[in-house]
Amino acid sequence: MLSSAHHADVVIVGAGVSGLAAAHHLIAAGVSVIVLEAADGPGGRMATELTDGFRLDRIGQLLSTSYPELDLTPGLGDLVLRPFAPGVRVHTEGKVLRVGTLTPARALASGSLEQARLSAMLGRLAALPVERVLARPERTAAAALRSRGAGALRPLLATLLCDAELGTSSRVADLALRGFARGRLAVPEGGASALPELLGASLPPGTIRTGVRVRSVATNLVTTEEHGDFGCRSVLLATGARAAADLLPGLRVPRFHEVTAIHHAVPGGLPSDGSLLLDGDARWPVAHTAVMSAVDPTRAPAGRSLVTTTVLGPPPALRTVASRLARLYETSTRDWEVLAVHHTPEAVPAMPPPHDLRRPVRVLSGLYVCGDHRDTNTVQGALQSARRATSAVLRDFGIPLPAAPPLVPAAA
Ligand SMILES: Cc1cc2nc3c(=O)[nH]c(=O)nc-3n(C[C@H](O)[C@H](O)[C@H](O)COP(=O)(O)OP(=O)(O)OC[C@H]3O[C@@H](n4cnc5c(N)ncnc54)[C@H](O)[C@@H]3O)c2cc1C
Repeated sequence: MLSSAHHADVVIVGAGVSGLAAAHHLIAAGVSVIVLEAADGPGGRMATELTDGFRLDRIGQLLSTSYPELDLTPGLGDLVLRPFAPGVRVHTEGKVLRVGTLTPARALASGSLEQARLSAMLGRLAALPVERVLARPERTAAAALRSRGAGALRPLLATLLCDAELGTSSRVADLALRGFARGRLAVPEGGASALPELLGASLPPGTIRTGVRVRSVATNLVTTEEHGDFGCRSVLLATGARAAADLLPGLRVPRFHEVTAIHHAVPGGLPSDGSLLLDGDARWPVAHTAVMSAVDPTRAPAGRSLVTTTVLGPPPALRTVASRLARLYETSTRDWEVLAVHHTPEAVPAMPPPHDLRRPVRVLSGLYVCGDHRDTNTVQGALQSARRATSAVLRDFGIPLPAAPPLVPAAA
């Protein structure tokens, strides 16, 4: 017999944001839950480390104030988002374009026809209902940009999709641009880990068991490497795509995009208006960079600034990065100190066309799967997949679903 410490209605495997959100939805419906997490703490890819008073995200996370799931997930009521200055600043061959800040009329008045065209395009997309976005023909984002003569949006899309080649589905790309145009890019105050910390802290004590690696799953039994078996009525896999396919060999392993985050400390501080700077010059490795401590002052000790830079690929030579940052920030970077370089080879699953924005979350009655590989490869996608999967669990348990706004495609 399994003790109650080893038994729950649902065992969730993985305490990333999708697993934690799923736990909240199930507990709110009166279902008992245990969350098993292999790592020493919850959070998954949304991790932040403390170094010399700096708070360094492992992943250079960007959220959007337009992500609806941030409001729909129980436990995130106290989440504080620190927005960047409106829009983004795109640096291309000596030119700086502001994208997403001006109305077409103001962009025209400022003398930039290109800015006016981009503003008009983003404005139209922001006003377009999601169904109309999804009715557009699907191809790669790169092909769609070419056919619309909107190459200037390439750096923005690469940043939003973590995809330097823009092989992502144009539907996902349009939804990402629509989300950008309807909200503000932002980061969680205190670092990416603030979001899973909030979710974890508001679950009943004992719900999350860390340091427990799951070895195999069946509908009513979860076997772990060193902590025995856990009995249940259903299992929800909330791991990343590869670990999910290891545990359920029928699941497809997607391709992944790799990402490197580089953190620099700037002695004496660096003035900034809190803009996100995008590098539109493909000869350099930088995708985007920001004085993160200007956006979120909790991330650096007094008198010093934190610059966080994202590269969409493997770690480049740090000297090359420093010389590019010197150009982008128009200052010497000679005394900047590298605090950390975080390389994640399988950062996010790729989403080439045709991309199903609602991949199945119910494998069979008693076995479910969620995570950013089921919807879109974002926090919004991970949270939404959790809501879809837990609705499927509750339906199979015969429990009435709580009233909730309709599910819209995840990047919308
Ligand atoms: C470098 C990088 C940059 C990103 N940038 C952005 C961005 O700008 N905007 C955005 O919205 N999103 C971004 N993302 C994506 C976002 O972080 C993820 O979509 C989200 O965190 C996924 O959450 P999850 O719960 O689906 O998976 P995960 O966070 O991967 O959680 C899965 C959990 O399962 C655990 N686990 C795995 N196997 C087992 C096992 N056998 N037993 C027990 N536990 C197990 C893992 O330890 C992990 O904690 C980025 C990700 C990376 C890596």
